[in-house]
Amino acid sequence: MGRIRVLPDQVANKIAAGEVVERPASVVKELLENSLDANAAEVRIEVESGGRRLIRIADDGGGMLRDDALLAFERHATSKLRDVKDLLSISTLGFRGEALPSIASVSRLLLETRSEEETTGTSIEIAGGKMLRCEESALGRGTTVTVRDLFYNVPARKKFLRTDQTELAHVASLVTHYSLAHPGKTFRLASGATELLSVTPVAELKERVYQVFGSQALDDLVEIGVREKELLLPAASVPPSAAIADYRAEPDEPPTRTFRLTGFFSRPQVQKGNRNSIFIFVNGRLIRDRLLLHALSSAYHNLIPPSAFPFALLFLECAPEEVDVNVHPSKTEVRFRHSSFVHDFVRDAIRERLIESRPAPAFPAGRVSEAPQPAAALPYSEFSQMIENQAPPEGGLAGESACPTSMEAPGEKGRPGGLPHLPEFTLRPPPAPAQRLDFSAPPIEMAAGPPPSGKLSRHLDMHGEFPADAVPPPEMSLSVLSDLRPLGQIHESFIVAAGRDGLWIIDQHVAHERILFEQVVKQRAAGRVEMQRLLMPLIVQLTAEQQIDYARIADELHASGFETEPFGNRTLAVKAAPAAVSASDLEKILFEILEIAEGEPRNASLDDLRRGICASIACRAAIKINTRLDAAKMEWLLRALAATDCPMSCPHGRPIALHYSTREVLKAFHRI
Ligand code: ADP
Ligand code: MG
Repeated sequence: MGRIRVLPDQVANKIAAGEVVERPASVVKELLENSLDANAAEVRIEVESGGRRLIRIADDGGGMLRDDALLAFERHATSKLRDVKDLLSISTLGFRGEALPSIASVSRLLLETRSEEETTGTSIEIAGGKMLRCEESALGRGTTVTVRDLFYNVPARKKFLRTDQTELAHVASLVTHYSLAHPGKTFRLASGATELLSVTPVAELKERVYQVFGSQALDDLVEIGVREKELLLPAASVPPSAAIADYRAEPDEPPTRTFRLTGFFSRPQVQKGNRNSIFIFVNGRLIRDRLLLHALSSAYHNLIPPSAFPFALLFLECAPEEVDVNVHPSKTEVRFRHSSFVHDFVRDAIRERLIESRPAPAFPAGRVSEAPQPAAALPYSEFSQMIENQAPPEGGLAGESACPTSMEAPGEKGRPGGLPHLPEFTLRPPPAPAQRLDFSAPPIEMAAGPPPSGKLSRHLDMHGEFPADAVPPPEMSLSVLSDLRPLGQIHESFIVAAGRDGLWIIDQHVAHERILFEQVVKQRAAGRVEMQRLLMPLIVQLTAEQQIDYARIADELHASGFETEPFGNRTLAVKAAPAAVSASDLEKILFEILEIAEGEPRNASLDDLRRGICASIACRAAIKINTRLDAAKMEWLLRALAATDCPMSCPHGRPIALHYSTREVLKAFHRI
C-alpha cells in the first residue's frame, strides 16, 4: 500500500502555494528537506557550476515504493499530510507535495529510489515535466535525485541567476546550516572535485560547530545549554492561521506547552555588520523571522552597538501546534501562536545566559586555530540576504552617541582584530596589538587531549618543570573579576590585574561607565534618581529642531533627573541635574540626549530613549582615561564591576576587560 496520496482540493487550497524553485539553493533546500524527512543518516550533495549544470542529492533514507515514486511527481502528492487537521501540527519539513513536480518541470530530473520493502528500485526520468522513462533498476536503499540543466526550458528564470560562485555560496550556506541542525547525521557537499563540507555524526551540537566552523568559533561563542519555559494555555485556543480558521482546536489540549531553546550565540565582542550570521531553526526548520531576530537583538541591548549584530545559532523547539509553518511558499516564514511569549522567552533566555556566563574576551592576537570548512567560510546566505533586504532597521539609539575617547586613533574604530583567515568571526574592537604572538590555544573541551608529556619535558628541562596540572583551566568568564589583584595602570587608562588564571586588562573608563549605567538604570526604574541643584541655572541655547525634540522628551528628561524649564525663545534653563554629572559636562550631555531623541525613530520605545539617556549620563560621569588611579580606587572599580549584571561591555558595546589565560602565556613562552 503506497504512502503518498494526492491531497484533496479542499486541503490543497489551504496550503500557502507558490513557486519554490527560484535558484539552485532552493532546489537543494527542497531535496535536502525530503532526505531529512525520509530519516536519512547520510546525505551527499554534489553540484556543478553552482548547481546550474548539476545538483545531485543522494540519501540512505526510507526510499519510495514504485507506485509512490510515480505519484510523487503529481502536484500536491505527499505522504506527510492527509487532512486539514494535520496542517495544525506539521512535524515534517515538507508538507505541500509541490517540490518534486516543480523541480521536474524546470529541469531534466532523474529519480532513483528503493524502499526497504521492495527488492528492486525504480528509476524515473523526467524532462520539463514530461515523463521520459520509468523502469525497475537494481539500487541500494534510499533515494538519489539528479537535477540537470536547471531552467533549461525557462530562459527568463535562468537570466536571474547570479554567478556560479554566488549560487554555490547560497547552496553551501544552506547545507552548512542544515548540517548544524542535525549533528547526528553525515553531510557531504562537493562542487565538482572540491569538497566543501564533510561532517560525520557527532553526539552534540557543540562538536558539530567545531567540525564546521573550526576551533576559533567555540572560543567566540556561548552555549545556551537547555532553556525551557512553560506556557500556560488560556482556556480558549485560537487557531494559528487565518487559512485554517474554519478548523476548531480540540478541547482536550494539555493546559501547558513547553518551549525549549538551545544553541549558541556570540560573546558581545564578536560583532557582525549584518544579520548574515544569525541562523534560527524552529523545530528543525531553518527560518527567517523578525520576531525572533528582534528578540535576539533585544537580548544584546546595551551590550553591542545598535548597528552591530551577533552570530547566533538558535534552535527553538515547541509543539507543532504552536507554530504555523504554512504561511509562506518556501516555508521559511512562520507564525507563532503566542508570539509575545515566544519573543520574551527567547530574549530573556539569551540575556540571562549572557549575564550568567559573563563571557570574557580573549586577546585576539595571531591565534592559530583549526580552520573552518570551506562551505562555512562562504559569505552568502539566501536566508540572511532576504532578511537583510526586508527587515526594517533596528531602532538605533546608543550607537549615535558612542563615546569617543581620546585614546582612539582616527580610523581605528571598528577595525577588525586581525583575523583575515576567519571572516566569519572577526573580533572588533579591540585592534590587534602591534606585536603578534602565537597565543594559539586549542579549544577548551574540544582539544585533542593534553599535550604529550614528552614534548613538555623536552621544552622545560632547562628552564624548570611546569607541571601540566598546575595550569588552571582557562577562565572564560568575567565572574572572576572580584578576585583580581590590580597591579597597576598602563597609560593611566587601563588597569592591569592578576587573577587565578592569567592576566587581565580592564579599560577603566568603560568599566566605570558600565557600573554607573546600571546604577542609573536602576535608579530610574525605581523613580529615585539622585539630583543636584545647580547654584546658578545653566542657560542653554537650542536650535528650532532641538526645541521640538526637547518638547517631546521633556517629561522623560525630568524623570531622569534634569530639571529644565523653557526660558524665553529657544532657550532652556537647567536648574538641577543628575548627581553624577558635573556642571561642566551638563551642556554637552543635554545636546547628546537631544541628539538621541532626534536620531530615534518616533515610534521607538520609551525604554530605548531611557536607556540612551542613562548611557549618556554614565559615559559623561565615568572616570576618564588618562587618569591616575590609586590601588584602592582600582580595587573598588573591579569589585563594583564584578557586581554589575553585564561586565562584558559598556552600554555602547565596547569590551571592558581582556584576558590572557595562563595557558596562553605558557604557550607564548613555549612552556607547553
Ligand atoms: P512534500 O515533501 O511536501 O511531501 P515533495 O514534492 O517534496 O513534497 O515530495 C513528495 C513526496 O515524495 C514526499 O511526500 C515523500 O513521500 C516522497 N519523497 C520525496 N523525496 C524523498 C526522499 N528523498 N526519500 C523518500 N521519499 C521521498
Ligand atoms: Mg518536500
